[in-house]
Amino acid sequence: MRYDLPSDQIPTAWYNALAHLDEPLQPPLHPGTNEPAGPDDLAPLFPMALIEQEMTAAPWVDVPGEVLDILRLWRPTPLIRATRLEAELETPARIYYKDESISPAGSHKPNTAVPQAFYNKSEGITRIATETGAGQWGSSMAFAAAQYGIESKVYMVRASFEQKPYRRILMETWGSECVPSPVDDPSSPGSLGMAISDAVRDAGGRADTHYALGSVLNHVLLHQTVIGLEAKEQLALAGETRPDVVLSSHGGGSNLGGIAFPFMEDDKVRLLAVEPTSCPSLTAGEFKYDFGDEAGLTPLLPMYTLGSHFMPPSIHAGGLRYHGSSPIIAALVKSGRMEATAYPQSKVFEAAVLMARTEGKIPAPETAHAVRGAIDEALAAKETGEERVILFNYSGHGFLDLSAYDAYNHGQLVDEG
Ligand SMILES: *Cc1c(COP(=O)(O)O)cnc(C)c1O
Repeated sequence: MRYDLPSDQIPTAWYNALAHLDEPLQPPLHPGTNEPAGPDDLAPLFPMALIEQEMTAAPWVDVPGEVLDILRLWRPTPLIRATRLEAELETPARIYYKDESISPAGSHKPNTAVPQAFYNKSEGITRIATETGAGQWGSSMAFAAAQYGIESKVYMVRASFEQKPYRRILMETWGSECVPSPVDDPSSPGSLGMAISDAVRDAGGRADTHYALGSVLNHVLLHQTVIGLEAKEQLALAGETRPDVVLSSHGGGSNLGGIAFPFMEDDKVRLLAVEPTSCPSLTAGEFKYDFGDEAGLTPLLPMYTLGSHFMPPSIHAGGLRYHGSSPIIAALVKSGRMEATAYPQSKVFEAAVLMARTEGKIPAPETAHAVRGAIDEALAAKETGEERVILFNYSGHGFLDLSAYDAYNHGQLVDEG
């Protein structure tokens, strides 16, 4: 029950959700002046090609051949029907998942790290500075930079740097320099906001260096639409007309946008975001302009936010501990086009273990939120006796997060609050 596309059917254009919103997005604002930020304000940090993608109204954006050459190392990714999970749930629903865990870094993040490294190199940039929490984004950027022969420096939140060495080792193996953040205070455990500040300061201070962000921004979500575009073709191979619901985990919105946007024009398809109850930006946040980081160095974006100083508890799904959301996802939730739901981590790990014992796959803690959402959609279909078609994104594997499973398996995983 696996649906593969041949390697020449990798999408050659990205789907631009900006061209299909009911109303145009409110513009980003300059953090100093509160005036709309233009291309010149972003130019010290990003290449012009990405700044254009951030604002373009073109419905499709071509994927450069040099990017396709690298994406082809693991794309197209498989679409799998989870028949053993369906049988265990005794549901009439059909559950499909898109397996993004097979990328070199083990998640969907290289889908955008590769084009970001490419556009930087094309504009003469030889070095990229970025931040990482638990290391998923940093390792994806280290891999992508290596493919184009450019340098990368990753500022990793100090607490993770010290407690979670494996993704640092991945980064170093791909040739990246990884340092603990904050750089100027070895006694601080650090935070994502501080690490962003370190990386932005590095990039701002050197002409050969740009900054790169792994989620939230429009161009990042654009690059991730290869996921949904492939899934659409693969569902057709499986004989499905359309999914009834498309869902995924929501941290900054990139893997959810990637799988969901190519379905957004079809009103019969429900779109659903799944987030942790401990960091509930879409389900309990306020819609307003907010900073992307804690230090207030990034432009202000219109989003659902818990406040840029919100300190989420240290749950295992580190990639979902973000105070805000992508402006496009926020607009879809605000207009009612997208739904959102939240779960505590005990319910999430219960679902992850069911997935492991039926389908064999051990999901990343972030991905396990999508698994929980898919299981509950399938159980709701069982209640009503409907043949619901469920599509979710399997955003990454959990092989470097086994200590979280150890805690759950031994009854030591607690829900906060
Ligand atoms: C980073 C990450 C996420 C969350 O980030 P989004 O930008 O919301 O996609 C989800 N799953 C995995 C495996 C991740 O690494």
